[in-house]
Amino acid sequence: MNWLTNFIPPRIRSIVGEQKEVPDNFWAKCPSCEKMLFHTDLSANHNVCHYCNHHLRLPVKERLVMLFDGGKYEVLETPKVELDPLKFKDKERYIDRMKRSQAKTGLRDAITLAKGQICGLDAVIAAFNFSFMGGSMGMAVGEGIVKAAQEAVKTKSAFIVIPASGGARMQEGMLSLIQMPRTMVAVEMVKDAKLPYIVVLTDPTTGGVSASFAMVGDVHIAEPGAQIGFAGPNVIKETVREKLPEGFQTAEHLLKHGMVDMIVPRKEMKNTIGALIGLLLQKPYTKDPKKNGRRDNDQTEGGSVQGADSSGAGSKAAAKGQANDNERAAARRALEQVRIAHAAVKKLGRNAGPQTDILQANDDQELADTAQMPVSGSAAGE
Ligand SMILES: [Zn+2]
Repeated sequence: MNWLTNFIPPRIRSIVGEQKEVPDNFWAKCPSCEKMLFHTDLSANHNVCHYCNHHLRLPVKERLVMLFDGGKYEVLETPKVELDPLKFKDKERYIDRMKRSQAKTGLRDAITLAKGQICGLDAVIAAFNFSFMGGSMGMAVGEGIVKAAQEAVKTKSAFIVIPASGGARMQEGMLSLIQMPRTMVAVEMVKDAKLPYIVVLTDPTTGGVSASFAMVGDVHIAEPGAQIGFAGPNVIKETVREKLPEGFQTAEHLLKHGMVDMIVPRKEMKNTIGALIGLLLQKPYTKDPKKNGRRDNDQTEGGSVQGADSSGAGSKAAAKGQANDNERAAARRALEQVRIAHAAVKKLGRNAGPQTDILQANDDQELADTAQMPVSGSAAGE
């Protein structure tokens, strides 16, 4: 909403002319600050608004390029399942909806499975495509998670799931709901093999997905501002008839209440995941100096871009030094969070795997050393 649509009566507006829609092949509008962003700038910044740091949704392919070393990964085929077993029809036949989504996205279903390396360590990623029927979980998605978990166990890789989903796929009825326990068993296999299982909660993670595998990670990372919850806020509001707290169901709210371990900005995501895998497997890892895959834009935090650009090379180097300090601090905070999380798990009497040793044994100094290990490794090149 702006003043034009708020205050000018429709008749006058029709004379002045409606505000022209900006052609969206060049520009996108930030849903948070409503500033216009060049698609090329936005894409170079991993779909993060460089005015207000709002994290827009990121297509799966770009995310995988961002996370895997050198942007290289191998796609694992999504398992074939029976299409439309219930012959479901609402306003439209389910099979027609499916075909339309397949044509639109070029994908078989709402999940993409890939394997490669993150910071030099083997990883299998199962990522949801929200643009495919709202990332809903049906048989193919459940089957995909099972396959990815099996691959992780077979290749002794870390398992990372990146949900972006409205929940179970209603058109598959019970067959969709049964994917909740199935995926839980799948991730349990990974845990039994003492391999890390990390969940990266992106906007939105809701419904049956948040009620199953997405909430049982060894570590829960969330993207800033992501909506995470079970039922939508409007449904809850109408049911309980109470005012919901501010920031309800946001990543920040859940961090405060313990359901999320850390909120990580997109550009720190790769190195944070690499550090966590390295820590949990007690293996050395190589920090990516470009932070994320192949792209490198010399930005510090969102919003401070102009300041960094306007001055000379000296201040740019200073900004870089500052960014490194920030990273070190972020890594230390992240490791501290993981240590707290594992202490909590231990308290609950569950076996948290071999990683508990390192997490328990280390004092603050050791923690700081671990956090700095990859940083000092890459500092030589800078
Ligand atoms: Zn913005």
